[in-house]
Amino acid sequence: MPSEFQLISQYFHRQRQDDSVILGIGDDAALLQIPEKEVLVATTDTFIVGRHCPERTSAYAIGHKALAVNLSDLAAMGARPRWVLLAISLPDSNEDFLREFSAGLFALADEHGVTVVGGDTTKGALSITITALGTVPRQQALTRHGAQVGDGIYVSGTVGDAGLGLQVALGKTVTLTTEQAAYCQARLDFPQPRLSLGLALRGLASACLDISDGLAQDLGHILQLSNVGADLALDQLPLSSPLKTLPPADTWQLALAAGDDYELCFTLSDENFAKLVAVDVPMTRIGTVSQALGLRLFYQGQPQDIDMTGYQHF
Ligand code: ADP
Ligand code: MG
Repeated sequence: MPSEFQLISQYFHRQRQDDSVILGIGDDAALLQIPEKEVLVATTDTFIVGRHCPERTSAYAIGHKALAVNLSDLAAMGARPRWVLLAISLPDSNEDFLREFSAGLFALADEHGVTVVGGDTTKGALSITITALGTVPRQQALTRHGAQVGDGIYVSGTVGDAGLGLQVALGKTVTLTTEQAAYCQARLDFPQPRLSLGLALRGLASACLDISDGLAQDLGHILQLSNVGADLALDQLPLSSPLKTLPPADTWQLALAAGDDYELCFTLSDENFAKLVAVDVPMTRIGTVSQALGLRLFYQGQPQDIDMTGYQHF
């Protein structure tokens, strides 16, 4: 049976050329160089199999997603991701799991130029906590509290796919083709952190967050912290073709209240929208920030009443 240190060196210690890492894995703590005139952006998320993903999720997807949700938080802040710490507890040294898990994690880390600089490995119920660190020039971080009356409300990509993917994964009857089902499951298992969009929004978006618990609930955080309201047009919601096969009420429920899409939702003045450079993901205007508090929904101009409670742990 490999020791804790053999596991670390075999699965988590990878050499990577990164001048910002003065000292990485192997000492009591890492030493990291923050670029001049930038500030550190820090976030952490715990990932529990069975709670944050279905039990049957592959180890490769768990490695991807545990990191992706953290990088998504950095994207939402307009940060450039740089370093990651990985705390993992495992019931046993299952090397098949570790090989696949680390392959999924490092594939995403490499894609975004992120270095794993430390962590902790313990025995216990499977639990993964990742801390992601990034940097952003002073005063340029995107926050939840700056939305202004009249700003457009936008989302990246499409919404509701991961929620539909979860229904597929849990075997709830949905009438999708094999291809559509696979697409939605991939959206659930392999969320793509919208990092280039976050960078493009620096200095332009008045507020931004990533959608982890459902569009309506998460947009609600921006509205509350910015002390504004919003009018949303349901007919403008960006939907994938699988979502469009459902009855409208189910589609809206998934698009507004299902979590795990990890798209960005942001507010932007028309003036700043014109300055936005093209990025690798489409964005869609879905509404407008209003003075009247609360969230109002319209379909073809008609007010709609929909229960939109998003995901809550407690
Ligand atoms: P300490 O006891 O001083 O906290 P450890 O013996 O736990 O140090 O870890 C040894 C080194 O390996 C440290 O640099 C730590 O950051 C790193 N490390 C431990 N577990 C992991 C992991 N799962 N992934 C990446 N680095 C790890
Ligand atoms: Mg120590």
